[in-house]
Amino acid sequence: MEEEKLETVPCPYCRGVILVGVKRCKYCHAELAGMWSKEAADKGPEKNPALATLLSIFFPGMGQYYCGRTDKAIVFVFVFVIFVGLFYWLTFPWILVAVCAGVDAFLEARKTRAQ
Ligand SMILES: [Zn+2]
Repeated sequence: MEEEKLETVPCPYCRGVILVGVKRCKYCHAELAGMWSKEAADKGPEKNPALATLLSIFFPGMGQYYCGRTDKAIVFVFVFVIFVGLFYWLTFPWILVAVCAGVDAFLEARKTRAQ
């Protein structure tokens, strides 16, 4: 089980199982070179999990935004605003959201690191 992990995906044209990064599908010979470079560019640079966690604890959503997860950032900002609006007299919900956002930011930052 310790052998080098070769990621495989179904070919978008013929659904044959191909290796990630191949230039041409070995089944239907479709040109696939453009597909992978875009994916690599989307991944972006590595993020610092500690910084992401801190950002999200101080302002839920900031750590997610820092990790390039704008979709999650928006969710956390909404949850945070709703919780603060509904339970502004309590400290507990605020801390709960901040901790959840911090943990999530940490995991998101870890995903950006080399696997
Ligand atoms: Zn194919």
